[in-house]
Amino acid sequence: MTLYNYLDRYLFLPLGDLVYGSSVVAKYKEMRSRDMLSELEIRAIQDSKLQRLVKHCYNTVPYYKRLFDSHAISPEQIKTRDDLVRLPVLTKQIIRDNYDDLFSTAISSKRIRKSSTGGSTGMPLKFCTDWDEWSSWKASTLRAWEWYGLHLGDKIFSLGGSSINKKKQLLSFKGLYDRVIMRNYKYSSADVTDEGMHRNYVELMKLKPQAIRGYGSSLYILARYIEKMGLPVCPIKVVLTTGEVLMPEYRRKLEEVFQAPVYDAYGAGDGGILSHECSKREGFHITEESCIIEITDKEGNPLPVGETGFVCSTDLDNYVFPFLRYSVGDMAYMKSEKCSCGRQTRLIGEVMGRAGKLMYNKQGVPISPTVLPMMFYPELDYHNVEYQKIYNKIDKFQIRQDANGDICILLKLKDPSEPKEQFDYVVTNYQNHFVGSKVELRLVDDIPCLPSGKEDYCVSDYRREG
Ligand SMILES: [Zn+2]
Repeated sequence: MTLYNYLDRYLFLPLGDLVYGSSVVAKYKEMRSRDMLSELEIRAIQDSKLQRLVKHCYNTVPYYKRLFDSHAISPEQIKTRDDLVRLPVLTKQIIRDNYDDLFSTAISSKRIRKSSTGGSTGMPLKFCTDWDEWSSWKASTLRAWEWYGLHLGDKIFSLGGSSINKKKQLLSFKGLYDRVIMRNYKYSSADVTDEGMHRNYVELMKLKPQAIRGYGSSLYILARYIEKMGLPVCPIKVVLTTGEVLMPEYRRKLEEVFQAPVYDAYGAGDGGILSHECSKREGFHITEESCIIEITDKEGNPLPVGETGFVCSTDLDNYVFPFLRYSVGDMAYMKSEKCSCGRQTRLIGEVMGRAGKLMYNKQGVPISPTVLPMMFYPELDYHNVEYQKIYNKIDKFQIRQDANGDICILLKLKDPSEPKEQFDYVVTNYQNHFVGSKVELRLVDDIPCLPSGKEDYCVSDYRREG
């Protein structure tokens, strides 16, 4: 541990709590003390938190009050996680249709943090959390880092999916928190050309971080570039991946190039899911004091342990915009055995169904699927309100690449009578990435789900390796 590690933990982190009104220090302490609890103790924490949450939902959240009453369920009937099955599943569509009624009337608006799902899950979903939940997330992440020998205050080279405005990053309080306390140095992964990768490589070598973090596919592109050019790499303690399914070939390549173990995380802000791969590599330890995860069939019936189904989450920490039995849209299975590390939390075996494949343009340059939705996003240009307006007209989208490498963008609009020309900027953005490919934009009435029920926004039949 360096002096910075100590200062960060005992001075900067508490200061951050003071300014933000968060409670990371307290939660972190609590989570560390709970790391090795028995299964019974974990269940007891979950059940008592669940009972409190359900009462809160019934008494203060209009949507849940209606739901409980119309199904003739009383909050007292939901005592343990096994009772959750009485409730119907909460879907993204229900959230969109009942957005205003999902807020608790008992929470001060000061506690609310507006949030939205990122690009890796298709169409973004707007939702809200509060500072307590945010603190739990940070605390759970810090605890998992310790499993890997990484400590608060260690520098992290973070490859993000979107374009990152450096000035904006440094000037905001959030930017300072990220930099000084989390020591998260963010770089953009949007430019996947050799020049873009070289810029990231130079930054990496300048920073000399203890850890590298990002989407598996984005880090994979950087690793492949480093390997292709035969470049040296500074010593790295650990590579942390998140945000999409980590392909085995990405993991292999990352470990080979960075000479460090790769640990994956699976989380979803919507639903409050957080789980971290164990250093024993036997699965993902669920942060069970913060969320209850069920694996269900399409109708929301729980499946036997070991069977693959839909991930359904009850967020035990979100009192602002509660999620009870929320179907995230991911598919996974739970392991029946406990981990050999001794921790008694349940383990997610594998998460399937999220985009993790790369697309290639005709020059053989890989394009991360995490970048594709960015081309619809208003964040591409922070100051352009027009983009924001146009973007908000999109209901669903899908990007298809045929066997010749040509691109077809399917858009389902909220109002089908909207003129097509206003989306021309999307075509231009795609043409810039898929050089030499025909790019066509088609307005459609609907975009069917995959047989699995999953919305896949990126489908490619083009098989060209770079
Ligand atoms: Zn373990």
